[in-house]
Amino acid sequence: MSARVANVVTGLALDREFDYRIPAHLLGRVGVGNIVRIPFGRRRTRGFVTGLAETSLFPELKEIEAVEEGPALFDEPMLRLARWMAGYYAAPFESAIAAILPAAVRREGARHKAQWTARVKPGVTPTPDEEVALARRAPKQAAAWSTLKVMSECTAAMLEARTGVSLAGLRGLEKRGWIEVTREVVRREPPSQMRILPTTPPPLTEEQVEALAAVKKEMEAAAPGVVLVHGVTGSGKTEVYLAAIELALKAGRGAIALVPEISLTPQAMERFRGRFGETVAVLHSHLSDGERHDEWMRIASGEARVVVGARSALFAPVRPLGLLVVDEEHEPAYKQDEAPRYHARDVAVMRGSMEGCAVVLGSATPSLESFRNTQTGKYRLTRLTRRVDHCLMPDVRVVDMRIEAEKAGRAHLLSQPLIEAIRLRLDRAEQTLLFLNRRGFATTIMCPVCGHVETCPNCSIKMTYHRHRDRVLCHVCGREAAAPERCANAECKAGNIKMTGVGTQRVENAVRQLFPKARIERMDSDTTGPKNSHGEILERFRRGNIDILVGTQMIAKGLDYPNVTLVGVILADLSLLVPDFRSAERTFQLLTQVAGRAGRGEIPGEVLMQTYTPFHPAVQCARRADFMTFYDQEIDMRRELGYPPFTRLSTVLFRGQVEKAVTDCANQVAEQLAARLPATVNMTGPMPAPLAKAKGYYRVQCVLRAPATRDYVPLLREFLRGYRPPRGVTISVNVDALSLM
Ligand code: ADP
Ligand code: ZN
Repeated sequence: MSARVANVVTGLALDREFDYRIPAHLLGRVGVGNIVRIPFGRRRTRGFVTGLAETSLFPELKEIEAVEEGPALFDEPMLRLARWMAGYYAAPFESAIAAILPAAVRREGARHKAQWTARVKPGVTPTPDEEVALARRAPKQAAAWSTLKVMSECTAAMLEARTGVSLAGLRGLEKRGWIEVTREVVRREPPSQMRILPTTPPPLTEEQVEALAAVKKEMEAAAPGVVLVHGVTGSGKTEVYLAAIELALKAGRGAIALVPEISLTPQAMERFRGRFGETVAVLHSHLSDGERHDEWMRIASGEARVVVGARSALFAPVRPLGLLVVDEEHEPAYKQDEAPRYHARDVAVMRGSMEGCAVVLGSATPSLESFRNTQTGKYRLTRLTRRVDHCLMPDVRVVDMRIEAEKAGRAHLLSQPLIEAIRLRLDRAEQTLLFLNRRGFATTIMCPVCGHVETCPNCSIKMTYHRHRDRVLCHVCGREAAAPERCANAECKAGNIKMTGVGTQRVENAVRQLFPKARIERMDSDTTGPKNSHGEILERFRRGNIDILVGTQMIAKGLDYPNVTLVGVILADLSLLVPDFRSAERTFQLLTQVAGRAGRGEIPGEVLMQTYTPFHPAVQCARRADFMTFYDQEIDMRRELGYPPFTRLSTVLFRGQVEKAVTDCANQVAEQLAARLPATVNMTGPMPAPLAKAKGYYRVQCVLRAPATRDYVPLLREFLRGYRPPRGVTISVNVDALSLM
């Protein structure tokens, strides 16, 4: 007996499922994951089938009009994950469905490209007489035939371009029994940059063997759990992932490895392809829609069983799934910035537990959340403490910019020690990376003489300068004060301290002035728009055609060039100035990453970190690549102040072009929420977000904190479902927000 009712979710943002009757001629043909065409109000639309039932509570049901051809786009476990995401992240259900399917797959008309192909029938050898006869009667067919004799197989389109033969002409050849004409799916292979040579796994080091054993234990457990691989840069984490994936394949299962988009370099993909060959599918943002569609189908059909990709590759339809790897698990890029605002690492852990598959998280600088989970016993911890290639960790020096400013008489962008170090590299024909964390927030007030920064006494968050009101504000508790005229440090009291931004371009100019003969290039999001220029700059750098590369985060990750012997950090403090409780953690992670770029070859590397706060734990611990000390200090601070991981922190953001409408709406919502939220929830605001106005939109937000998200998210979701914001104002919820910006 087949089900007569289908639950359907539509692309229209309604956060609801609707019941439709399955008409007699479609009985048995409608399944979960199918796309159906349905009447909706006075329109027609497409919808995804999310469930089947015998009956409905609603007496009058409309009928499904048609089922689109093609495989089911999701199964029950994937659907369960989408439901969980919608609930956990307070997002409309249809947005969760959209998140698990690439647009290229769910879009109308998405399908394989098919084309007519002609192929010589095996064993057919017409006599010369027959060929001559053909040439006389149908010269185009004869021309096509001689092309096919050489190529043995060719698309109809190409034959037509070469010889003018039509499809009917090819049919003529087919009738003679010389060729076959078929309609075939063409696969749009993502352009693989080079031929991939197969590699064999190296014998693992003792530490790697231990790490692999920890992963294996989880993979074989009755209820597989999570392993955190904490390994310094270059300690061979990736090799451990590869070995674990091999185990999954041997057990007849597939695997997904998530890598931050920025680390998804050709070299990285090559490593996976070299080890596993054709069974690797790669999903990243540079694929065309067609390529993405075809890669996804290759996974769905089971042809590809190892998936490497950025954030959304997490939802790849690998069945059965034996292993989920999240490399660089601390990366903020894993958080999606539109609804559902999910964190790929956290959803990976959830998918793993739902599907009984082990999850491996890896990082040189684990997030405090993940590391704490190893301490409470939720995750298993394994460590790689040494670099595989016996390269020494680089020598890191901290340059105190306060002393430099005093010596030079005023503040400079480049200190004397850094200038000397660069000169030395130019003399020795070695390469230099200059790194500036531009996420730094120009509206923080930092004294350029002593480096003093206004900090909220309640929250230990940097105060943000709001220029239009000339006041400073704490974005966690809302504390406000007049903007200082002089530095508040009693020993400094320098005037004129409202800082202006430092940018990579200014750094580039300064370096050019100092070293006019050097080959200098800059790499940041401004210089690397189009598809490949990012890769081109790196390629030139790799070949040694650039002496000094100036850049942002982009150059901090994954670069592995042996001739880089100097890394200069222009202002380590910039990311500390971000008005966010995670700023120290981010700074530590970034500095550790950047430092790891130096000395990947024979020559030991040197790192110079310029800073106004040389004794800040983030700077000191990064200098020694000492995660544990940093963790111990930072976790105590988080505990004391009630920040994650001890609470779950989320934001509710109100946006609109009319300031009053935005604040009115925010006040109204906050008031109603305050009346409903339980006492365990701490809500602050509404107040202007640190980024108070962006692209003409005012931004006001509330910050919620509680021991668990279930203390407020379900309530929030329910409330917002029934709340209609005034025209021109949008409300977005960011559960487990990574930043307060
Ligand atoms: P991580 O992912 O921790 O940065 P990788 O796995 O990329 O480290 O390893 C760093 C380098 O060492 C790579 O070039 C890798 O090929 C090499 N390597 C890793 N493990 C071994 C091993 N057991 N034997 C030899 N070389 C190894
Ligand atoms: Zn505060």
